[in-house]
Amino acid sequence: MTTKEIPLERTFLAIKPDGVQRGLVGEIIRRFETKGFTLVGLKLLIPSQELAEKHYAVHKERPFFKDLVSFITSGPIVAMVWEGDGVVASARKMIGATNPLNAEPGTIRGDFGINIGRNIIHGSDAIETAQNEISLWFSDAELANWEPTIKPWLV
Ligand code: ADP
Ligand code: MG
Repeated sequence: MTTKEIPLERTFLAIKPDGVQRGLVGEIIRRFETKGFTLVGLKLLIPSQELAEKHYAVHKERPFFKDLVSFITSGPIVAMVWEGDGVVASARKMIGATNPLNAEPGTIRGDFGINIGRNIIHGSDAIETAQNEISLWFSDAELANWEPTIKPWLV
């Protein structure tokens, strides 16, 4: 393990209560691992009302806001930070469209979901959003600055 000086791009992903309860945690982590991204933060927690409202603040005027916050605080979620070149946009592609009925097969929502309110996973939508969400959900001490020493896909 080596310490890096220049951090790569990072994104915030969260497996929502439906994904955890359906036993999809391993499958979802596997997809990002095998794609080649690096896991730098991971924890399971039941989010507080305050944290959920902050996380979804951009949607606070939307009709589904109350249900969304109530759902996301209803059980454990798996909060993660992943690192790698282009990880923000790539993770959004791997997650698929917001409404699982419109999400392509091969994406997480396309393969596992049918309901927009139970769409399994959250992913930051832009680099700046990712930075804000990472600092909302994780302290610096909870994030590992590390690099795999074997990277056959890069040589
Ligand atoms: P995404 O998660 O793809 O970034 P949005 O940021 O637009 O999607 O919405 C945040 C979350 O709010 C969605 O993942 C979904 O769970 C929920 N949501 C969005 N639109 C609706 C809707 N029309 N009805 C119910 N829930 C919705
Ligand atoms: Mg969003």
